[in-house]
Amino acid sequence: MSYVDEVIEQVIVKYPDQPEFHQAVREVLNTIRVVIEADEEKFRKDALLERLVTPEREIKFRVSWVDDKGQVQVNNGYRVQFNSAIGPYKGGLRLHPSVNIGILKFLGFEQIFKNSLTGLPIGGGKGGSDFDPKGKSDREVMAFCQAFMTELYKYIGQDTDVPAGDIGTGAREIGYMFGQYKRLTTSYEGVLTGKGLSFGGSLARTEATGYGLIYITDEMLRCHGQSMAGKTIVVSGAGNVATYAIQKAQSLGAKVVTCSDSTGWIYDPDGIDVELLKDIKEVRRARLTEYKNARPNAEYHEGRGVWQIKCDIALPCATQNELHLDDAKQLVANGCYAVCEGANMPTTEDATQYLQDNGVIFIPGKAANAGGVATSALEMSQNSERLSWTFEEVDAKLKAIMENIYHNIDDTAKKYGMEGNYIAGANIAGFEKVLNAMTAQGIV
Ligand code: NDP
Repeated sequence: MSYVDEVIEQVIVKYPDQPEFHQAVREVLNTIRVVIEADEEKFRKDALLERLVTPEREIKFRVSWVDDKGQVQVNNGYRVQFNSAIGPYKGGLRLHPSVNIGILKFLGFEQIFKNSLTGLPIGGGKGGSDFDPKGKSDREVMAFCQAFMTELYKYIGQDTDVPAGDIGTGAREIGYMFGQYKRLTTSYEGVLTGKGLSFGGSLARTEATGYGLIYITDEMLRCHGQSMAGKTIVVSGAGNVATYAIQKAQSLGAKVVTCSDSTGWIYDPDGIDVELLKDIKEVRRARLTEYKNARPNAEYHEGRGVWQIKCDIALPCATQNELHLDDAKQLVANGCYAVCEGANMPTTEDATQYLQDNGVIFIPGKAANAGGVATSALEMSQNSERLSWTFEEVDAKLKAIMENIYHNIDDTAKKYGMEGNYIAGANIAGFEKVLNAMTAQGIV
């Protein structure tokens, strides 16, 4: 058996209850096979792949907090410090009932290659809790965040591990966590990114993942002799990534006709009204049924279904494994030209294969949504310098980073004889830099 297959098998046997982690490992290892097999015995002797798929550290802790009724609640908290070969661990904190160690290992593993692709010195990590912020009062969210940080602060720091937001962790949660870190350590440092602008946050960080997704999509289109103007786009999600992707796409002349949340989805033939969406989701924290009430021309449907709508470009921006094989078939039948992932691993393995087999351009999340973490790294730089850059400065750097990522994955795919296969391009380009650093640093 080849070394790559051996390690994939080991991961499945060793961690049978972590299917998302298997999926991420399989996808990456299968595409970097060409690099590994060029010097297989050396890599096997160095246990390079075993080290790559094993986190440097997995931290699990209890989070006890008191709800508004005086009842004590207990959640699990986690931080997976996956790989620090090229810099301090960097990756978000997810607050969602589905969070478990397997989900965080998949996200942390992906983060290694994504962070490498940004060209910035950041390693891979991820964390979070099975706490559900939905339906909680502000005081309860604060109580949870303070209890969570009371344990997490021991393991993080501006030069060791710098967490950020993710699903369920927005500006409010980062603010409460930062306040607690400062209280516990008496240190005012850039230990978290996604902070508010008045206490070390970076302009354009909020917009960065969504904007970055559109910048890389636009560059890909330009290189294929096309442009964003006039394109019909289907987006899933109604959170941070989706909102700013819709806003930037529409500012470049595309029409985005859908969005969705965990209970239903909107089809708005006139184009999604972003200001209304932001008011519903960011201010009122309400459901998408409110959107339909304000826009009579729009349709609201329960459940999932955005991928049925005819489009030129599909941007899955909600969560993992939300675009299935049937959806991929529908997109192909409707003449979809490209799928660019705003979320992490939103497309299932069989759907990805189907899209690629049917000539749909596919940019994987680790390249397409890297704008968020790249701008987080820019926030770290500003914190270290104790300076704040203007929105335009940060946005220009973000755009340059995303264009650079596109050319890097495109060139790498060509170099290895897989032109147009951006999954292979992203995995190999991300891996080569990490490999180089791991090799140079010896067996650690
Ligand atoms: P948010 O919490 O802001 O938004 C997530 C959106 O997806 C919400 O509309 C939510 O619905 C919906 N959603 C969540 N879980 C499910 C589910 N199981 N089924 C259907 N819909 C669901 O998160 P973000 O926008 O920050 O993140 C979205 C994705 O992008 C994630 O995969 C994240 O890891 C990835 N990402 C985020 C980055 C960032 O900077 N924020 C950076 C890189 C990647 P509801 O409104 O009902 O909760």
